Amino acid sequence: MYDYLIVGAGFSGCVLAERLASAGKKVLLLDKRQHIGGNAYDYFNEHGILIHKYGPHIFHTNSKRVFEYLSKFTDWRSYEHKVLASIDGHLVPIPFNLNSIEMLFPIKYSEKLIASLINSYGYGSKVPILKLQEVNDEDLNFLSNYIYDNVFLNYTKKQWGVRPEELSSSVTSRVPILVSKDNRYFQDVYQVMPQNGYTYMFSKMLSSHNIHILLNVDYREVLALVKYKKLIYTGMIDEYFDHIHGYLPYRSLDFVHKYFEFINYQEVGTINYPNNNDYTRITESKHLTGQKVSGTIVTIEYPKDYNYQNSDIPYYPIPNAINEDIYKLYRNEAEKMSNVYFCGRLAEYRYYNMDQVVARALKMFETELNQ
Ligand code: FAD
Ligand code: UDP
Repeated sequence: MYDYLIVGAGFSGCVLAERLASAGKKVLLLDKRQHIGGNAYDYFNEHGILIHKYGPHIFHTNSKRVFEYLSKFTDWRSYEHKVLASIDGHLVPIPFNLNSIEMLFPIKYSEKLIASLINSYGYGSKVPILKLQEVNDEDLNFLSNYIYDNVFLNYTKKQWGVRPEELSSSVTSRVPILVSKDNRYFQDVYQVMPQNGYTYMFSKMLSSHNIHILLNVDYREVLALVKYKKLIYTGMIDEYFDHIHGYLPYRSLDFVHKYFEFINYQEVGTINYPNNNDYTRITESKHLTGQKVSGTIVTIEYPKDYNYQNSDIPYYPIPNAINEDIYKLYRNEAEKMSNVYFCGRLAEYRYYNMDQVVARALKMFETELNQ
């Protein structure tokens, strides 16, 4: 008899399994994929290059607690992610900032734009594009439309299938305009990568003899066969309830990993393509992992709709008011359940980063499970 059956061996499932096992609980952790780690899974390919199978995962957090918790299972390497976007034939820093302005406009005009931005918002501030769109100033209005058209519009249409204003403003606010010369993609206090990769870190988390791992299994196939007291579910919440309130939409991606004999393919970790190409971004993993090997791998991301009938993976919940209302119907169902807990990006239909999932799982352990 297991104390807990945990569905999904991603970040949320692994953190909960580790916490419960360390409190003496017997846990069965299962995943329908062939590996642990969920979307953060990485592996060494035939050239010895560490690849993020499901797209680039860069760890960043302001939470000392989350950082210290994960530090029990991995050493880290410092890494500050840099992104450039291909705009008008230039490669300019993203988040769009004062350096980007200087690279794109004649000197006198860029000085004027920069002065207006600083006057209106203050040096060091972060302005979401949809907020900048509300501006009532001729120069800033021009700048805002330029950034909207050249950075956000096509990228967002490709990534989500809709325009920026059709999504919750929290989506484009993730990458605000920076009124500074900070070229880093994230400004968090802790910006690090697990020294030996994420999968290695997860395997350390799951090393307790209290944890049994079952891979390649959909939980619905074994539910009747396993004896357990409580269930933790980290898959899609609408699927758990057999879509009784309709299908929640998700976005998916195709990842194409390409090998080159070069030392480096591009000058920074990621280059965004907010233009008419089918793909959104190209990431070269060696920048992230710091590996010193002769060849290199890039990962190209092609967004698409998530289709339940195909073997697509639901990478992103789609944050907007309509979907939030559907989600709430499912959350009401979840609240009626006893001994079933919902945690993570799919089970809570939240656009969580890794650190937010860890924080959420730690909180669930403390407030709901460790009573
Ligand atoms: P998941 O990793 O999705 O794990 C859920 C698991 O449940 C899956 O492995 C799935 O196979 C399993 N499962 C579902 N249904 C069943 C079932 N019926 N039976 C058995 N198993 C089931 N975050 C960052 O902080 N930094 C980044 O740079 C970053 N980059 C990202 C890039 C991409 C392309 C994507 C998609 C996400 C990125 N993230 C990033 C977010 C990060 O991946 C998530 O926050 C994190 O992986 C969520 O963990 P989770 O456990 O909630 O979900
Ligand atoms: N975005 C954009 N252009 C960019 C970068 C981001 O339009 O050059 C928008 C887009 O809608 C994207 C969102 O901002 O989906 C969040 O970007 P982020 O890099 O955080 O996305 P993730 O890494 O989660 O895919």
